[in-house]
This record gives sequence, C-alpha cells and structure tokens, in this order.
Amino acid sequence: MIAVTSNQVSDERIAEIVRHIEKQGVQAHVSKGTDRTVIGIIGKADPKLAEQLRQMSGIENVIKISKSYKLASRDFHPDNTVINIKGVEIGGSELVIMGGPCAVESPEQIDEIARLVKAAGGQVLRGGAFKPRTGPYSFQGVGVEGLEMMAEAGKKHGLLTITEVMTPEYVDVCAEHADILQVGTRNMQNFDLLRKLGTIQTPVLLKRGFSSTYDEFLNAAEYILAGGNPNVMLCERGIRTFETYTRNTLDLTAIPVLHQLSHLPVISDPSHGTGRRELVETMCKASVAAGADGLIVEMHTDPDNSMTGDGVQSLFPDQFAKLLQDLEKLAPLCGKTFETKKEPLHV
Ligand code: PEP
Ligand code: MN
Repeated sequence: MIAVTSNQVSDERIAEIVRHIEKQGVQAHVSKGTDRTVIGIIGKADPKLAEQLRQMSGIENVIKISKSYKLASRDFHPDNTVINIKGVEIGGSELVIMGGPCAVESPEQIDEIARLVKAAGGQVLRGGAFKPRTGPYSFQGVGVEGLEMMAEAGKKHGLLTITEVMTPEYVDVCAEHADILQVGTRNMQNFDLLRKLGTIQTPVLLKRGFSSTYDEFLNAAEYILAGGNPNVMLCERGIRTFETYTRNTLDLTAIPVLHQLSHLPVISDPSHGTGRRELVETMCKASVAAGADGLIVEMHTDPDNSMTGDGVQSLFPDQFAKLLQDLEKLAPLCGKTFETKKEPLHV
C-alpha cells in the first residue's frame, strides 16, 4: 500500500504520519518527489490502516499495491534513482559506459585495457577476478590478486571499477577494491549473496537471470534494497530462448519495461546478450535507443587469446573507440549526454 501526500505537506506532518504508520508494527518508506511525497507501507498492515490514512490531513490518496516487490517499484518511488559514484551519475542524464575484459588476466593486460577504455571516453573499467564458469575445469579467475590489479589500473587511469562477486564471504574484499559489485546472471537468485549485499552501501549491478521474468528480477533487487542498500542497478544481459544462433537473446523490451516498473537505473550488456562480436555494436546502439542508462561491453586487446571463452564477443579496442564516438552522436537523440573527451576523474 502507498499513501500519497497532497502538495506542499510539511516535513513535520510527514513525520507524524510515519509515526502513526509505524505504531501499527509496519515499516514506512518515504520517497520525496518534486511535488508529492509517497509513503510506502511494507508489512502486513491492519486493514483499518488504509481507512485511517485516507482521513488524515495531508494525505491525498491511498493505493493498494499488489506487486510482491515494493522498494524496487516505481509506485513506491516515482522519481528515477540516480546513483552518484565519485561524481559519475548512473541513472541520470549521462550515458555510462563500462568497458573491459571478461576476466582480469595480468597487471599488464588490465592496465593497457584501462588506458584504452579511458582514452575512448568510458567511465568504468569492467573485469572479473572471480569467474562463474559453466564447467569446473575452466579458468576460474585470478582471485583477490585480480581485484588488486584492477583497482590499481582504475586508479591510475581515472576510471571507476566493476567486478563480479559470487559468494557472501567475498563481498567485503570485493567492495574494498571495486566501486561497483556485479551479481552475475547465475547468481541472481543467490539469496544469501543478495542479503549480504543489502548490508553494505556499495552500488550493485544486478544481472537478470537468464531464465528470469521481470517479476523475479525485481524481487531479487528487492532483497538488496530491503536489506538497506538503495544503490542497485538492473542489467539486461540476454535470456535463454529457442534461438541458438546467438548465445542469448538480448531482451531489448526489458529496458522500457523495467523503467516503467522500477525507478532503478537500467544497464544493457550486449556482449553476453548476443555472444557475437559483430552484433555488439548494433545492439549497444539499440539499447541506448530503448532507453538504457548505460552499457557494459567486453573489450580485449587480444580476444583470440583471452582466458575465458568470451573473446568471441569482445570488441577490439578500435571497435570500442568507434562505438563510443557513434554513441556521442546518438545519445542526445535518446535523451542522454555522452562525451568521449572528459575531464579527468579523480578516483
Ligand atoms: C560477465 O560479465 O563476464 C559474466 C559472466 O556475465 P553473466 O553473468 O551475464 O554471464
Ligand atoms: Mn564475460
């Protein structure tokens, strides 16, 4: 249920309403909009509460929300969430580009790729130190040392960093080294991991499970939000369909749908979404046209020899740079700004 206040209700009155709600043993979440405030009520409320609220001064409307996720829904939080990380705003007017290898392989590799991401105009360096591989004998990532290599490269080149965390035990060490923590598609419903991520404030990029509905995806985000971490972004990375030509089917429709249903930033991952280098550029542009707040793109200096199988979907550095130049022209037509030449970011 949500209670919507009328225009210009004072903060004191909102606090009184919240106290009244919380006395009933349920939680109240206040979301201040430009002219109205939405008070979301979470928990099993006494059926009489809706009627009481309707009669209270300052309340304009009380609406029952049937969705199972609350904090992730736009009903509870009408304005877009903008996550500010060291001056880079995700979910605001700027298009955010995250680029880098599937996996961190060596200090030299990540340093050189970071230089190229920065030179092309990207804001975030991606790279996995812990890799969720389908087979147990495949390369599993270089581990904590990889986190250190990436943190150093990010710092040196003035980029934010994003890396995948797979287990609750590694959340703290990953958060010490990276600016954004990625939850991979295979872990979207790893509820212990989501709960742990709710206990910190580090921004989380939550990838959609490859067989998950929007409802399941937003409920996974709800776990992190309900734990107390409001800094969640959603990532469409392709779903499994009957089509086998592409690695996955990038569900572009997810982008406007998630914006409708939720206030959280939406990022698109055309690398995993297609699994084919020659499709990545087009699907990046299509994602921006569909309203993505950012892209996460695999790029490698030597994709043929990359240590994971994702070389086939990794852009070469010159393709990455050309893509970002095109996005500079496209972004303004899609309500975003993006500049390839940026002020240095002091990270
Ligand atoms: C990755 O980003 O390299 C990755 C493994 O992603 P996903 O979880 O989407 O497969
Ligand atoms: Mn990958």
